[in-house]
Amino acid sequence: MTDALVNQIRDRLENTREQIARAAQAVGRNSTEVRLVVVSKMQPLTKVRAAIQAGAEILGENYAEEAVAKIDAIGDTQAEWHMIGHVQSRKADLIAKKFDWMHSLDSLKLANRLERFCAEAGRTLPVLLEVNLSGEASKFGYPAWDEVDWPFLRDEALQIVSDLPHLRVRGLMTMPPFADDAEASRPFFVKARRLRDYLAQQVPAAGWDMLSMGTSADFTVAVAEGATLVRVGTAIMGPRQAHG
Ligand SMILES: *Cc1c(COP(=O)(O)O)cnc(C)c1O
Repeated sequence: MTDALVNQIRDRLENTREQIARAAQAVGRNSTEVRLVVVSKMQPLTKVRAAIQAGAEILGENYAEEAVAKIDAIGDTQAEWHMIGHVQSRKADLIAKKFDWMHSLDSLKLANRLERFCAEAGRTLPVLLEVNLSGEASKFGYPAWDEVDWPFLRDEALQIVSDLPHLRVRGLMTMPPFADDAEASRPFFVKARRLRDYLAQQVPAAGWDMLSMGTSADFTVAVAEGATLVRVGTAIMGPRQAHG
């Protein structure tokens, strides 16, 4: 690993943290409420190691097998591993064993499988419910763009809280449609916060303090609208490799 690579990633990390701090201050939030997830999907191991050396505290990955290969290769580290991509329930064991957080819980089937493997491993996994607030067919997550679907989500959350003691619901995750203009994401971030407030009122037994939203394209807007976890990839890590 070259020092030049570590320095480059450190500069971008610091720059991103400064932008987060400014966006938080502008709306009277404390920037310590916002955690930065450095998205390392489709980045080579050298770069992931460089990111950790540069001070990345959380790494976000989308593909279970790719991530586990990196986690195993890197071994003991202070950095946390967060799963932010869609997970098929047959891969739940990888998540339960290897990840510190699960941002993309999108079905009770997956929740049940995670519960089983977390119980076996004797651990509790913090989870976020992924919600689709745009209606875009390509998006994963619970349908929630129409408020008539919110009670379904409430019932799913209630079931997780009452039946799955090794999962700890902490909030919501969302990914707005891709847009060139960061402002285009704002209505989706506002809606995520409103949905979170609804669930916090309806399911007080769960925790609803965390909102995972915002990417390289729109994280400052997400922070302005209440994000507590922003998921920034290319702005820190540079372009991704093709997935092979
Ligand atoms: C890839 C990805 C990101 C990061 O996107 P960038 O544009 O690289 O910042 C964030 N969230 C999710 C769910 C992703 O898949």
